[in-house]
Amino acid sequence: MSKVVLIGCGNVGMSYAYALINQKTRVSELVLVDLNKEKATGEAMDLMHAVSFAPSKMKIYSGDYSDCNNADIVCICAGVPQTENQTRTDLIKKNYTVFKSIISEINKTNFKGIYLIASNPLDVMTYLTQKLSGFPYERVIGSGTILDTARLRYLISEKIKISPKSIHGFVIGEHGDSEFIPWNNTLIGLDKASKHLTKNDMSEITYNVKNSAYDVINKKGNTSYGIGICLVKITNAILDDSNKIFTVSSYNKEFDIYIGQPTVLCKKGAKKVLKLNLNKDDDLKFENSCHIIQENINSLNLK
Ligand code: NAD
Repeated sequence: MSKVVLIGCGNVGMSYAYALINQKTRVSELVLVDLNKEKATGEAMDLMHAVSFAPSKMKIYSGDYSDCNNADIVCICAGVPQTENQTRTDLIKKNYTVFKSIISEINKTNFKGIYLIASNPLDVMTYLTQKLSGFPYERVIGSGTILDTARLRYLISEKIKISPKSIHGFVIGEHGDSEFIPWNNTLIGLDKASKHLTKNDMSEITYNVKNSAYDVINKKGNTSYGIGICLVKITNAILDDSNKIFTVSSYNKEFDIYIGQPTVLCKKGAKKVLKLNLNKDDDLKFENSCHIIQENINSLNLK
């Protein structure tokens, strides 16, 4: 039986909450916190009305930061959303201020669980959470490139009509424009991706993975369902002590940043980061992504 506190009840936060009540999960208590308390209360009531038909029992209510005391996971989806023609990095300064106010409140509690971050720019906000909380690196996790990875598997699956569950490929790097697909490490069943996809197919899929978020935002104003279910996958992987591998944003010691990389998740958080066996080109792409995240962090002049 586990407790999750959700900070930020907007599109992303509520998609996470709704996906959570629709899946089998160890979460038995879900607390909603938002600047807009009325909204958090209304959302909690609406979800509670749905729980009678949900697969697991769950207590859902709106609360405040003191609820973090005995929480297993605090998931932060608060912030300013990415809007049309705005890059994720444009959000950095605004969301830093938001995070300072949130984490200083949580620091006053006895919270000893795991931080799960969804707000953008994702890798920077995850890094800032660790700095502001002083938590051990492994107990701070960002959603990283898990959503981009889901998009990759969906797009390959559509192209070759093979289930996304049989496609073993990952998007790694920054959750942003410098993310990339290590195609040499992408397997379809036991085959190299190149057995099923032409170079053109791979370029088209790469383009679509990178631009899906912009495309959806241009059409409906935000993205939410995909990230909602990805956050549930991470939550369950942690609470089930599953040792599952996801491309979450975890700490990279070499570059002193958080970045999307294949990471083993267990109840203690990020148990282990898998060593990347990339070719030279992809190594350079990963380094480039690391430098971009570092530059974004440096733009805040933290020291
Ligand atoms: P939204 O505007 O719908 O919701 C944000 C919520 O945060 C609002 O309800 C707002 O009241 C609340 N909030 C703001 N400041 C707060 C504070 N100090 N304390 C508590 N609550 C506060 O935005 P959204 O569409 O839900 O997006 C949220 C974040 O998630 C954005 O940063 C967005 O870019 C990001 N996002 C990430 C991914 C991903 O893959 N990680 C995908 C989509 C969106």
